[in-house]
Amino acid sequence: PAALVWLRRDLRCDDHSALYHALRRFPRVYCAFVFDTDILDALPTRCDRRVEFIHASVVELHQHLQQLARESGSPGGGLIVRHGPAVPCIVQLARELGVQEVLANRDYEPAAMARDCQAAQALHAAGIAFSDYKDQVLLEKNEVLTRQGQPFSVFTPYKRAWLEKLDAFQRTPYPVQRYARHLAALPDEAPLPTLQALGFMPTNLRTLALPTGMSGARQLLQDFLPRLPAYHEARDFPGRKGVSYLSVHLRFGTVSIRQLAALAARQAATGCQGAQTWLSELAWRDFYFMILWHHPQVITQAFRPEYGHVQWDEAPALWQAWCEARTGYPLVDAAMRQLLQTGYMHNRLRMVVASFLTKDLGIDWRRGERFFARHLNDYDLAANNGGWQWAASTGCDAQPYFRIFNPVTQSQKFDPEGRFIRRYLPELAHVPDKHLHFPAAMKPAELAACGLRLGVDYPQPIVDHAQARTRTLLRFQR
Ligand code: FAD
Repeated sequence: PAALVWLRRDLRCDDHSALYHALRRFPRVYCAFVFDTDILDALPTRCDRRVEFIHASVVELHQHLQQLARESGSPGGGLIVRHGPAVPCIVQLARELGVQEVLANRDYEPAAMARDCQAAQALHAAGIAFSDYKDQVLLEKNEVLTRQGQPFSVFTPYKRAWLEKLDAFQRTPYPVQRYARHLAALPDEAPLPTLQALGFMPTNLRTLALPTGMSGARQLLQDFLPRLPAYHEARDFPGRKGVSYLSVHLRFGTVSIRQLAALAARQAATGCQGAQTWLSELAWRDFYFMILWHHPQVITQAFRPEYGHVQWDEAPALWQAWCEARTGYPLVDAAMRQLLQTGYMHNRLRMVVASFLTKDLGIDWRRGERFFARHLNDYDLAANNGGWQWAASTGCDAQPYFRIFNPVTQSQKFDPEGRFIRRYLPELAHVPDKHLHFPAAMKPAELAACGLRLGVDYPQPIVDHAQARTRTLLRFQR
């Protein structure tokens, strides 16, 4: 008997749920990844950091699987890689290999669930079983419910219940290596496709501090662990190295969420505040996956239906300025440049720019959500939708609509010396700290002293925050 493990957003071979179950139950196990043309063809560009990240991580995973097999004395190992529409590719491969079952880790996005449903049906029609496993999250679906048996829609009580449920068992890694001798020898396969063979061009990924694959995740984690105790204090300052930068690895599963939770929970139990706060962030991640699974309509609709009636503005010029980092509010512009140049944006800044788009510019959160979807390396439908609806005040447990971030005071508070702003807006390098957060307030002599020509070197503010705030209050009250 043989099985095929179909990897998708779980590009690792340690603590891997589906792989562990396959190896434990079957004496011959193949692993495959499909570069899914249904997804790739829909991308607006042939130059996408995420495709390059996945490609590099797949190449590395192939080597890790070979090594895992070697170490366990198996002649097999390695990853079968295909390029085409995922479902037909997997069905055909399962037939070619003569497997009895295809195993995969569960996905919670509606499109992915529909794909898996289709795959299960097609496989069953060919006499092949399909099974899926929890791996991507710590606690899924209905595992955390209110006392009345309902899904939570407020984070704090959810987190309390989540922490109670998150016992040692839920954090225990799957010991893949115990059965790694069952990794099967690959059939005669063509070498792994290059990025170019997939129809994609290299991006600037190699120049970023973003190591790929399982080794990249390990490197970032090692770098973060000494900083974990200070996470709660440092996490809000984009100019400091306070966060883990692991989101893209969690997105593509090059690191196991159980491993991270186990590390955090161990330290949190000793009273480490940084670890407690970080564990809460992992809870937010599960929370939004849970929300998306229970309420898939949030993809296009406000979580709170009464906010579905908010009338947003078209504002093409304002939208363009936001997208192109030309708003005249330095923290917003620096954040948008970080996104465009690196595909990452600090959490505090995601909140600031999302608030700015929806509350200062009056533009529909869905447009911002789609823009992030195109540009974020770590783009995740559940977290991104949750974050946008939070900032727009339309979501579950969202920021109340009358709490409107002031982009200038946010800047003064979270980038006081302008370290972050200066990194991404070199044109403001010589502006004194006290004016850096809002250069438009400078007097002509002050502008001349630092050689800044407003409207030439750096834009005038595209809106007046105080007026925008009033308009937003009216918009929401209506
Ligand atoms: P750390 O601070 O080190 O946190 C560790 C991990 O916890 C993160 O990697 C992430 O998996 C999880 N996490 C942290 N904060 C949140 C949160 N608020 N919601 C859900 N999970 C969280 N996160 C994404 O992974 N993908 C997205 O597409 C995404 N879009 C967002 C859009 C908006 C408007 C907002 C406000 C937030 C969004 N987030 C998203 C959440 C958060 O900003 C990122 O997870 C975080 O900045 C990633 O950096 P990090 O790995 O260094 O985080």
